[in-house]
Amino acid sequence: MQVNEKRPGSKPFDPQYDPLMDRTLGPGSDYAPTYWIGTAGELPEDDGPVTGDIDVDAVVIGSGYTGLSTAIHLAKMHGIKATVLEANGVAYGCSTRNGGQAQISAGRLKRSQWIDRWDLQTARAMHDEMVGAFDLFRGLVRDHAIACEPQDGGHYYIAHKASAMPGLEAESRVLNDKFGYGSRMLSREEVLETVARDMEAHGAMWEPDGAGIHAAKLAFGYLRVARELGAKVHIDSPVQVWEYKDGIHHLKTPRGTVRAKRVAVATAAYAPRGLHPRVKDRLLPIMSNSVVTRVLTDDELQSIGIKMLSPLTDTRTLRNYYRLLPDSRLQIGSRAAITGRDAENPAHLKGLCDAMARKFPR
Ligand SMILES: Cc1cc2nc3c(=O)[nH]c(=O)nc-3n(C[C@H](O)[C@H](O)[C@H](O)COP(=O)(O)OP(=O)(O)OC[C@H]3O[C@@H](n4cnc5c(N)ncnc54)[C@H](O)[C@@H]3O)c2cc1C
Repeated sequence: MQVNEKRPGSKPFDPQYDPLMDRTLGPGSDYAPTYWIGTAGELPEDDGPVTGDIDVDAVVIGSGYTGLSTAIHLAKMHGIKATVLEANGVAYGCSTRNGGQAQISAGRLKRSQWIDRWDLQTARAMHDEMVGAFDLFRGLVRDHAIACEPQDGGHYYIAHKASAMPGLEAESRVLNDKFGYGSRMLSREEVLETVARDMEAHGAMWEPDGAGIHAAKLAFGYLRVARELGAKVHIDSPVQVWEYKDGIHHLKTPRGTVRAKRVAVATAAYAPRGLHPRVKDRLLPIMSNSVVTRVLTDDELQSIGIKMLSPLTDTRTLRNYYRLLPDSRLQIGSRAAITGRDAENPAHLKGLCDAMARKFPR
């Protein structure tokens, strides 16, 4: 079956749905009408909704990258065939709405700040963990032939103003000298000639780990792999009540209760506040918007001059992340609304269009 944003029997997608404010949860919304959903192709089978009470070893709540990867690794590393419960369609949340950029980003602090805050040994352990995570992701895609169009070519961190360059140069030295990481600096001229004709660029740092992927094809590839390894993935099965009795978790879904010995929560920012006391008021959603243009004309492609399909981000505090997609569209993302109610405010789309125009004036 082809992936379609409209799912049989589902509610229309509500762009203003805000898990932090909305007390009701699912089941069954259509997908957000994203470029990724529109071009995802074949949807691997899932296990449909939960339709009665069942007893299982382990439940994973949420079927985005985190939930499906948890199910995959529970099977691979521990021989546990997990039951994944998803409130909507598989990977309804961020995993089918993002920029499709894989990088080894690790929050706001730079490596030099890690060393200052902790010590070199701790910083190296953290760095190794991130590089290891990226390799794990690469390995999953390769070993299971996940057709998510991986475009592996490193990540370009673009200095959007001249004053950002000394900091990038210093960071590149730290990365190379203290972490043995092969980053490289590029001048403005090199960026314009060999990376992109981004008129804001004053130079860039290149990091070897970075890849573009098709976000939904990655998620649906994980779905296939999880099920091949024995996991069950139940859609339209929101966990509405969670009780713990006599050493067993009771997870109530609309058409049946799932009783489990262990539960993993992989609901990301979509966790309703009442899901579990350990989730309540402990989530800090990071809001982001991403847009994709129509297919660019040859003239437009020439003028933006993007020479590869690698992810590009800039040094703004609220970064622009952008890249050329394999079918010659430009993707760009950045800050977004803080609440669901403000999601459709045209100012957010204008912000991204203005960013595109600043970088690639006509
Ligand atoms: C616009 C945008 C651009 C982004 N760009 C990038 C990028 O380029 N690179 C990058 O690395 N990251 C990016 N991200 C972040 C990235 O998409 C997320 O970090 C990632 O997808 C999170 O995956 P997840 O599995 O943890 O959560 P999600 O994919 O959000 O999945 C959570 C799932 O839990 C389900 N759920 C919630 N509550 C329940 C319940 N009670 N019962 C059952 N199911 C439930 C939801 O329906 C949902 O499907 C971006 C995010 C956005 C929004």
